[in-house]
Amino acid sequence: MNCKQAQRLLVPYINGELDEKEEGEFVKHIRHCPECYEELEVYATVFAGIRQLDGAEETVNYRTLVEDSLETSEADVQDERFLYTYVLFLRAAAIMALIYMIVRWLF
Ligand SMILES: [Zn+2]
Repeated sequence: MNCKQAQRLLVPYINGELDEKEEGEFVKHIRHCPECYEELEVYATVFAGIRQLDGAEETVNYRTLVEDSLETSEADVQDERFLYTYVLFLRAAAIMALIYMIVRWLF
């Protein structure tokens, strides 16, 4: 896969629209190409921001956004996906607890 092909797949990748083969080749390219990696970082950040504005309840760590995503793609799917969901759930629970404490403190 060359840069031109990889850049065409940036948005589909972020939206999870690539099939397994495409995703594998895309991630392999990104790992070896700093320019495309940077491009992915920009797109991933923008898209995550949009999802948040839409009211998605996921928490986003912008610093590790691309790494998290690439690692998820590279990992053996089932276990890692479960772990990823579990971590998201824990983060959400922590945020709810924090909000609860703030509300209690304010009122
Ligand atoms: Zn490239």
